[in-house]
Amino acid sequence: MNYNKKTVYDIDVKGKKVLLRCDFNVPQDKATRMITDDKRIRAALPTIQYLLDQGAAVIACSHLGKPEPSFDKWVKKQTEKGKDPSSLTKEKWEKEMQALRMEPVAERLGQLLGRDIILADDVVGPDARAKAAALKAGEIMLLQNTRFEKGETKNDSELAKAMASMAEVYVSDAFGAVHRAHASTAGVAAYLPAVSGLLIQKELEIMGGALEAPKRPFVAILGGAKVSDKIGVINNLLEKADTIIIGGGMSYTFIKAMGYGIGSSLLEAERVDYAREMIDKAAAKGVKLLLPVDTLIGDRFAADCQVKTVDVKSIPDDWMGMDIGPETVKLFTGAIAGAGTVIWNGPMGVFEFDAFAEGTRAVARALGESGAITIVGGGDSAAAVEQLGYAAKMTHISTGGGASLEFLEGKELPGVACLLNK
Ligand code: AMP
Repeated sequence: MNYNKKTVYDIDVKGKKVLLRCDFNVPQDKATRMITDDKRIRAALPTIQYLLDQGAAVIACSHLGKPEPSFDKWVKKQTEKGKDPSSLTKEKWEKEMQALRMEPVAERLGQLLGRDIILADDVVGPDARAKAAALKAGEIMLLQNTRFEKGETKNDSELAKAMASMAEVYVSDAFGAVHRAHASTAGVAAYLPAVSGLLIQKELEIMGGALEAPKRPFVAILGGAKVSDKIGVINNLLEKADTIIIGGGMSYTFIKAMGYGIGSSLLEAERVDYAREMIDKAAAKGVKLLLPVDTLIGDRFAADCQVKTVDVKSIPDDWMGMDIGPETVKLFTGAIAGAGTVIWNGPMGVFEFDAFAEGTRAVARALGESGAITIVGGGDSAAAVEQLGYAAKMTHISTGGGASLEFLEGKELPGVACLLNK
């Protein structure tokens, strides 16, 4: 995968209409529709400001949530979820769609930029087209939720063409959505010169740099709930890293693969063979694979459960591993201390419960103090680093959960592959 993509700095946007794909998929309070975290909107500001300063007319767009634009399909999906079909009225469907309109995003974006945002009523309909045609240099408008269009998630070429026809240049800055081949994230690039915004540029530079030419030793830390989510990542990083650290819920499947009982800890029984294969592969490749040596266990999955610390070889029946233990913390932080590059994806334990946050906190602290290039994958590890107060100490916290995982798997990302090479 080529990470060396043209950026907004490489093209002249003065006086041009720029279609800018952002990731404004922000969490909202269900009742009030207030945005509860505007990090993703803030992350897009440098590119927007740059384009406006350069005299571009910016047509921003994004998806928000998962609206279902076909009433029939919505009924089908809701019925599959167990809802009573007689309660599934058109009014209810319309209400759900209305709740995912872009008004709250436009309002917050306007506040952050200190200017009015022109909001379109549709994505490629008459209102969007008229507003785009009238848009002047230095102005910004926002299209409605791209997923209101049936063709968006199908990467429909007619929709892509219609979006592209409103602009002269396409800029993608929605890193959180680059792993999806949708009309607004990849399709439009077939019809316009396509470059990356500053956010994607940073993601490619730092994560791509770490994968292609890492400062060594290169240490990868993987945690979180499931082995199956990280199979591709482990496989790819075994080709690149010097040390792979495995903690969190997924580590118990590895401990099982080593022949020990794991009580009622998280287990993916169908992945035990894979875990054994990875242990063997690491040994064959000379990659150090570090697994927990001790663990905090609880007598049930609850914040106020009874807690003990035990060797991983002696987890009692009916107890479950909830965090790495103090000896493991020493082992893992020791490896992090000497690293040149550290990539981290997935917490070391159930950090949401105070009693089991220490492993994740200790790893976050070790990253912050390491002096290494430190990269935190999106999703839960990013949330953990923020919640525990270590965000400012990291070189980079990826803005994409799924996208950063697919990046680490070495997969081609459609929203990056479609951009012009340098
Ligand atoms: P992921 O989304 O795969 O990164 O997983 C994150 C989730 O894994 C968090 O909600 C953690 O609470 C959970 N987790 C981490 N360690 C454990 C564990 N030992 N047992 C159960 N869940 C865990």
